Amino acid sequence: MSKQQSASTPTSVEAILVINCGSSSVKFSLIEPESGTTLLSGLAECLSTPQASIKIRHNARIDNEELIETSALAAPFDHQIALSALVNKLVQLNLVDNIIAVGHRVVHGGEHYAQPTLINTRVKKTIEALAKLAPLHNPANLIGINACQQAFSTLPQVAIFDTAFHQSMPEKAYLYGLPFELYQKHSIRRYGFHGTSHYFVANQAAKFMDKPLQQCNLISAHLGNGCSVTVIKNGQSVDTSMGMTPLEGVMMGTRSGDIDASIIFHLVEQLGFSIEQVDTLLNKKSGLLGLSELSNDCRTLESAMLDKNNPQSTQAELALTVFCYRIAKSIASFSASLSELDGLIFTGGIGENSSWVRQEIVNQLGLLNFHLCEENNQATRFGTSGNIAISTSRPCWVIATNEEWVIAEQTAQLLKSNLAGEL
Ligand code: ADP
Repeated sequence: MSKQQSASTPTSVEAILVINCGSSSVKFSLIEPESGTTLLSGLAECLSTPQASIKIRHNARIDNEELIETSALAAPFDHQIALSALVNKLVQLNLVDNIIAVGHRVVHGGEHYAQPTLINTRVKKTIEALAKLAPLHNPANLIGINACQQAFSTLPQVAIFDTAFHQSMPEKAYLYGLPFELYQKHSIRRYGFHGTSHYFVANQAAKFMDKPLQQCNLISAHLGNGCSVTVIKNGQSVDTSMGMTPLEGVMMGTRSGDIDASIIFHLVEQLGFSIEQVDTLLNKKSGLLGLSELSNDCRTLESAMLDKNNPQSTQAELALTVFCYRIAKSIASFSASLSELDGLIFTGGIGENSSWVRQEIVNQLGLLNFHLCEENNQATRFGTSGNIAISTSRPCWVIATNEEWVIAEQTAQLLKSNLAGEL
């Protein structure tokens, strides 16, 4: 649809429509790039299944949210129909004229993209070609791009890559100890993910310290369903725990993280697993879920652990203990990349909310002079940000991530610089 089709002229606020398209879901938000204010947000999930649903939250004012259920759409419906429902809602709410561009989260940009990029046919082809490195994510991201190009044919579409922030990693960090030609001919190297989140929280920490990001040296732990640790030197990512795919690194909700690669041969040759079964085992049945045999959800595991009458209490504690130890080890090992360290950042659903996990991790990092303030740690949850360390410790910040805002900001900046280039 064109910008002219909206019912009447809305306010003059300029906003970016941010789209994060997964294989069976679309997350979307309409954001004012300068203030970060979310005008509308929502989630369509279980797409192309009988459970398909879409919920849209319209933030008429910050303190006055209205949840609009559009589950009345006849399921199963797909990405295209979900995005059409979004467009209809934007028209109804008179918000279409506010949108100046669409910013897409794209997971894998390989070595091609270190910056936000205006999407054209060539860029789409490259994203498609990179699907060999991210078979679950890049094709879904392309579905979102194609659907938005149809729905918003007059608007610029911009790709913001999860891998972009890590393109500053030096060779010593991104090369595997494998034959060099695997890198040269087949692009097998470490790329890293969660780049927009690590970039956002590093920026916020720089603001807390009141110094330019370019002078900050930080270690950032994004702990959600997927988890990664990144080391930031002079404002740039110089190493990160995820690798060619998001499977490498620390233990996660359902992913194993690092294992001895020979376990794969053992599973196939000795235990009769197929390659697909190994893939599912390592990506979907391991991590917190696999070790606890209970859940991948940190909240469920914490309450099981704390309930001593729960027969799964011990195993839940074991899973959480291994999880935290592996993260603490990763943080400690990344200190080798720095000669100065300003502080540690926790973000993501677990990092922002679980005082237990943060305490368990920080208590293993005394040698790096990280010491927790128990009171601040308990108090910093549910969207609050702050330093949870004692005054003599290096700071440990809890910072709520906001990848959507980064995508909106970077999309708007790209438009501005393109316009400036045209003058
Ligand atoms: P995703 O990687 O899918 O974006 P999130 O960043 O939302 O995931 O993180 C999800 C994780 O955060 C889950 O393990 C969930 O249990 C955990 N989490 C959310 N709130 C809490 C809480 N209050 N206490 C402990 N863990 C929490």
